[in-house]
Amino acid sequence: QAVERGVAERLEYMRAADGTVRVETLTDGRRIEVVRRALPQGGYINRYADVTERDRAEEALRLSEERYALAARASSEGLWDWDLTTDRVYYSRRWLAMLGLTPDQVEGRPEDWFQRIHPHDADALKAALDSYLAKGSEQFQTEFRVLHSDEQYIWVAVSGVAVWDREGTGEPIRLVGSMIDISERKRAEEKLIHDALYDSVTGLPNRALFLDRIEQMMTRRAEAGSGEGFAVLFLDLDRFKVINDSLGHEVGDELLIDVARRLEGSLERGDSLARLASDEFGILLTHVATEDDAVENAHWLKADLAAAFHLRGQEVFTSVCIGIALPSAGFRTAEDMLRAADIAMYRAKDRGPSSHVVFDPSMQTRAITQLQLESDLRRAAERDEILVLYQPIVSLSTGRVAGFETLARWNHPERGLVQPADFIPFAEDNGLIARIGEQALRKSCLSMRDWMKELGSDAPDGISINLSSRQLQDPDLVRDIEVMLAHIKLPGSRVKLEVTESMIMRNPEATARTLHQLKELGVSLSIDDFGTGYSSLSYLHRFPFDTLKIDRSFVAAMEEKPENAEIIRTIALLAHQLGKDVIAEGVESPAQLRRLMELGCEFAQGFLFSHPLSEEAAGDLLRRRKRWDLAALSRGEGHAAE
Ligand code: C2E
Ligand code: CA
Ligand code: CA
Repeated sequence: QAVERGVAERLEYMRAADGTVRVETLTDGRRIEVVRRALPQGGYINRYADVTERDRAEEALRLSEERYALAARASSEGLWDWDLTTDRVYYSRRWLAMLGLTPDQVEGRPEDWFQRIHPHDADALKAALDSYLAKGSEQFQTEFRVLHSDEQYIWVAVSGVAVWDREGTGEPIRLVGSMIDISERKRAEEKLIHDALYDSVTGLPNRALFLDRIEQMMTRRAEAGSGEGFAVLFLDLDRFKVINDSLGHEVGDELLIDVARRLEGSLERGDSLARLASDEFGILLTHVATEDDAVENAHWLKADLAAAFHLRGQEVFTSVCIGIALPSAGFRTAEDMLRAADIAMYRAKDRGPSSHVVFDPSMQTRAITQLQLESDLRRAAERDEILVLYQPIVSLSTGRVAGFETLARWNHPERGLVQPADFIPFAEDNGLIARIGEQALRKSCLSMRDWMKELGSDAPDGISINLSSRQLQDPDLVRDIEVMLAHIKLPGSRVKLEVTESMIMRNPEATARTLHQLKELGVSLSIDDFGTGYSSLSYLHRFPFDTLKIDRSFVAAMEEKPENAEIIRTIALLAHQLGKDVIAEGVESPAQLRRLMELGCEFAQGFLFSHPLSEEAAGDLLRRRKRWDLAALSRGEGHAAE
């Protein structure tokens, strides 16, 4: 009735899905709810209810909630209230405090605020505000930077609502809202983004970001035609593993950081440097027109890294191998280009330390071949394709065969004999070395046992077998060797195990324990490649070695550099004082032999005496009671005197 009579001051209709119409009307100060439902047979049924009291209760609740919300906000949020008709703004104390301001520092104008907004954010803010006012959506919310009184920008999130002049112009007349400081959150977000794109050790861009930069360069080049020249360099430190193993990871990290800083110093504007993996760096050169330019750059980079690094009081030298990829090779993606540089880097590694190689597409095939080799190796261990060769170790007092070092070869069905350098590192990486090493060990021991049976006192004193780092870390190693020796009935005293310096330095305590246990089996121990790691003899006397093998590189360089002979002399002297024998490796020339004899080395091994031999040929040598005429050999007349 109220509806029909039009006495209602205000009406609100709501039509439900089932056709029910709900009408609220304010009559004589009371609020009446009318629910009108259609009847199936036609007509309506109206239900009236006085909801004044319910409304009052709701209103009271709303007010108290609002007050509560305001209070809560006031504690952490700054409030602002902008009267658009007068263009005056009220800023709450909290709002002012957030920006380090006092009430007397603001005039109560929008400019107080707007002039502090970061220039980069001002447009976006204005756009957000305009779009809100145009659409009249629920509320207005945006984030931007504002200048604090300490001259730093803080990040704030602002939300607000407009009050509209519904009866009059329909324009907004007031904007009210709050502001909170979100600098902390922004910093966390930025750190997250940073961590995803930068390496934590060196602070350099990581692989993902580097790829992105290469891609940008490729796009730019595609747009500019072939004019824009650039190159991708893949750098890998030589012998980083040795440094890491012998000096420790922390020093290793310091070296990486120093290398990064030095490389950064060598770059030009626009170039990028990235850390790709442990000791791998990428460089994007953007000022190279030709291949020659890129190669020249590689030379400079290598020269820059050649000077000593000073790490915790030690001088450390390092060098890099560099693979270079140029866009002229026609790469589809940034990944392809980086992979090409990586492949070229591996080629450079083959050429030795401090080399560089420019990628050409034929290398791709080779890289795939390597992959094939790796999968073949898995089968090699099962199919008994690993064999061992025997290189005589010659006594420098008698000229007789004192023993043999056994050297593994892989007898590949198609490729023939594969050298250890081409499969031992793979085998180390994928764990196959355990099987391969075990086979080499067993075969060597079987040969030794057979020679003892056959030749009695003409059999060599012992057989020297190389251990890999994995084998040395295997907790079952000692027991396995013990079982194997017992099984084939070979005394441990006939076996000598060779362990490299860097393998010991990796985990000195555990290694010392293993080595002592091995000694208890009666086997003797050699330290291999001595002089190539970073250990010192005084340190090494803590390990139970019987023999020290001077690395081939010292022997080879002995003639050119007198100081190498001096190093060998010192090593031999100290070794003897510690009661250890010395074996010189890689003896190739009579002059080397002469010097080594003068320096008091007990044993020598090398092509001058013999290349590694088959089991047959090694056995023949023993049967013939081979004895080298050392005097003649050191004069360069030796080979005739069989
Ligand atoms: P290594 O233990 O230093 O072995 C000596 C290497 O020097 C051998 O290379 C040997 O053939 C080579 N050599 C000997 N005399 C001369 C010489 O007068 N001049 C020159 N230039 N080289 C000489 P090979 O057989 O290629 O073995 C290389 C490395 O592979 C070995 O270095 C050793 O670390 C590893 N290796 C070989 N067999 C095994 C194995 O059964 N197990 C493990 N874990 N490593 C092995
Ligand atoms: Ca060896
Ligand atoms: Ca060696």
